[in-house]
Amino acid sequence: MSIIDNAKEIASLVKKLGDIDLYRKIIDLEGEIIELTKEKRQLDEKLADITRSKAIIDELRFDAPFYTNADNTELYCARCIEVDRRAIHVVKQGELEMRRRVYLCPQCKSKFADVRSN
Ligand SMILES: [Zn+2]
Repeated sequence: MSIIDNAKEIASLVKKLGDIDLYRKIIDLEGEIIELTKEKRQLDEKLADITRSKAIIDELRFDAPFYTNADNTELYCARCIEVDRRAIHVVKQGELEMRRRVYLCPQCKSKFADVRSN
């Protein structure tokens, strides 16, 4: 039985006692438990996301203006890694800048001209 189910059961029992003040306090407590449970789930999801990104980031190296994997086949946004610690692939764009291919980060919308030496 979850903590929310327990709180609902207690609220139901207190309601039968007929003490309206106690019942209101139990209902408030139940609301706080639901809110805390929701916040915990969001933090768990955020932690899983950060843990996944960290495992990827640990394998990357900086090759300005991107972070790349060992065989240079994947390009990641430097801003998202350095500021948010999130591994976000950049997407090749059709446009050129100073005859260099331009990449866009779909997360932070940063654009990078590929200035790496070929
Ligand atoms: Zn980005």
